[in-house]
Amino acid sequence: MKLQFTKSKRLYKTAQGLMPGGVNSPVRSFNAVNGTPVFIAKAKGAYTYDEDGNKFIDYMSSWGPLILGHADPDVVREIKKAAEKGTSYGAPCENEVSIAKLIVKSFPGIDMIRMTNSGTEATMSSVRLARAYTKRDYIVKFEGCYHGHADYLLVQAGSGATTFGTPSSPGVPKSFTDKTLLAKYNDIDSVERLFKKYGDKIAAVILEPVAANMGVVPPQKGFLKSLRKITKRAGALLIFDEVITGFRLGMGGAQKAYGVVPDITCLGKIIGGGLPVGAFGGGKDIMSMVAPVGPMYQAGTLSGNPLAMAAGIATLTKLNQRGNYKKLKELTENLVEGLQDIITKLEIKASINSVESMFTLFFTDPAPHDYGSALTSDTKKYSKFFENLLCAGIMFPPSQFEAVFLSLSHTERDVNKTLNGLYRSLKNL
Ligand SMILES: *Cc1c(COP(=O)(O)O)cnc(C)c1O
Repeated sequence: MKLQFTKSKRLYKTAQGLMPGGVNSPVRSFNAVNGTPVFIAKAKGAYTYDEDGNKFIDYMSSWGPLILGHADPDVVREIKKAAEKGTSYGAPCENEVSIAKLIVKSFPGIDMIRMTNSGTEATMSSVRLARAYTKRDYIVKFEGCYHGHADYLLVQAGSGATTFGTPSSPGVPKSFTDKTLLAKYNDIDSVERLFKKYGDKIAAVILEPVAANMGVVPPQKGFLKSLRKITKRAGALLIFDEVITGFRLGMGGAQKAYGVVPDITCLGKIIGGGLPVGAFGGGKDIMSMVAPVGPMYQAGTLSGNPLAMAAGIATLTKLNQRGNYKKLKELTENLVEGLQDIITKLEIKASINSVESMFTLFFTDPAPHDYGSALTSDTKKYSKFFENLLCAGIMFPPSQFEAVFLSLSHTERDVNKTLNGLYRSLKNL
């Protein structure tokens, strides 16, 4: 069956004249898979419906936030209730206290938190905080790790940047990234070398504890622990960007799952339940640097927005119900194992990296362990695969270098249907 995308194509044409690439965030343009974007009209549970009435089993989950699925009834009810009481106050409200309590209780590395409006703001402020606290300027980031689009973090940043083959971006003065040092993910020697040279000038090492913006790439055994050791020894801070892994890998994120506690944690995505949000937190002494208690300025007109807080609280509360993470993991394992069987059977050069309820199918083998190996993937093949899958009513992320996210709305039946679609899509490559 061939799907029609008439209305999406028409909207796209108009949108292109009004917005760069017709979109408000680059990867949505489907450029990375040589396609034209599908305009979504509505979404419910595990499904999205486009403007032409096509239905998709959705595995983008809005790039991670929607771990309960689309339009979860409890989340929607709480957003409605909050909206009735006003959409923003510019003054504190109880929901901010409630979500702070939930997050502090869950994350070993967070005693105090500051909410922001996006993950970008969270990472940007976390770096400022680390610099203010240590009185040092340099930061270490890893090739292929994405931390939002702040100037000095947009260096070899994976995700959309990888997709478009622009490792950084024009408009970022060289002097802005002078203090950003690059290391290789899962390569502790590359970090040691930087510390040998810049040791007492490094304010922080920032990373995704499980990389998910070069496709999913898990940390190798001992990698996170070694980073903890090196930073502690050098008096530098360790920043975990858990914007994806926070509440995806369990209630305590990657830091609990891997038993490594960072000095500063960045959150976003899931904690906003699908509304715009971000947050950064850490120990009391570090967070006491933040204004108005301390001198490090950070602010936001809509930060701690009552609607976003309500959606976040509803999401985290439901997620925390017994058995939910186990269910998510089992469902993902079924899908991943089934997919692995298909790859083996069809003798396709591909591999899968999978952590809890997220994974990436790479068109390369063996499975990538860093940015360089991720880039050996056959992106042309991925594009074709993506298109085949889309026409089978299944929406994977429109780029090789992104993660597939399952939600609690996905069922065994969805997974079986998806495996059928995956088989046909891979067979027809
Ligand atoms: C999505 C993401 C960000 C940026 O969050 P935005 O809300 O898009 O600004 C930062 N870090 C990681 C790891 C992300 O996946």
